[in-house]
Amino acid sequence: MSKKVLVCGGAGYIGSHMVRRLVENGFEPVVLDNLSQGHAPAVVSGVPLIRGDLLDPAALDALFGAHDFGAVYHFAALIAVSESVTAPGLYYRNNVAGTLNLLDAMRRAGVDRFVFSSTAAVYGNPQTGLLAESHPKRPITPYGRSKRMMEQVLADYGRAFGISSVSFRYFNAAGADPSGEVGEAHDPETHLIPAILLSALGNHPALGIFGDDYDTSDGTCVRDYIHVNDIASAHLAALDWMEANDGHHVFNLGNGKGFSNLEVLEAAKKVTGIDIPYRIGPRRDGDAATLVADSERARRLLGWRPQVSDIEAIIESAWAWHRAPKYGPFAVNR
Ligand code: UDP
Repeated sequence: MSKKVLVCGGAGYIGSHMVRRLVENGFEPVVLDNLSQGHAPAVVSGVPLIRGDLLDPAALDALFGAHDFGAVYHFAALIAVSESVTAPGLYYRNNVAGTLNLLDAMRRAGVDRFVFSSTAAVYGNPQTGLLAESHPKRPITPYGRSKRMMEQVLADYGRAFGISSVSFRYFNAAGADPSGEVGEAHDPETHLIPAILLSALGNHPALGIFGDDYDTSDGTCVRDYIHVNDIASAHLAALDWMEANDGHHVFNLGNGKGFSNLEVLEAAKKVTGIDIPYRIGPRRDGDAATLVADSERARRLLGWRPQVSDIEAIIESAWAWHRAPKYGPFAVNR
């Protein structure tokens, strides 16, 4: 396989961590990003950054014509669950139509390996404790449905065109690379851990915990936080997997441990030493009460092992980034 790989969304949060892992492992990533959410400085220097959009098929053909890609990683998606409820067209256009354009450009160029960022949101409201891949897929938001649709498309493209693919269902990506060079920098920030840490720094004045009347131990939602570099390491393993396996394959990526929103807040208070102010607000649209992964399949078949499973260690790595972000709305001068 050519060592050249296309990383769509490589200037974003997870994509930028992936690009670093690829470079460290001898690959030659090329980043495609429309910079609507991503940050140019998040891309390791020396890695080509092409500003372009998945909704522009001609630009995609030009890109595939200019490079001999061995595989494509696709991180370029809109990810705010509650926004997807109010702006579904945006989500289907970007996450479904954009991904279809990408797959068709791959097909025209004869590139046949694809790694897709899916989500725990495809499961909807859990029927069981830990969620295995076989759990019913009944997403409750346009965001979850956009990702589920693409999983189904990938299975069809595998059968029709021989494109091998892996979909990773991420639980809650969190943390930052220890280098301090990349981290999470969404604007606005809607995710729990960065929202808490930005509040600790006075950069997110009205931290709200969305609902305390869920059917969980303390009434707040429970999530499974997984370090962004552990997500990246699974994506590397996917290349070997596709070398040996045709068709479409799905793997959960989580630690298998759930933390309630208030437990995350407590852990963040401990890590930062700051008594972070918050208020309990109303529920947020589209939130399931509990999402915790059974990731046995990735462990067994990919030999994947998360390296940072402790919630405080995950928050510590995020805290190091948020105190001195290199880019984003609160970037410190270098
Ligand atoms: N959450 C919250 N306050 C915030 C951001 C998030 O209470 O400012 C909650 C959210 O309602 C959910 C959990 O934190 O219960 C995780 O949300 P996040 O947006 O981080 O990830 P998601 O699970 O939606 O992908």
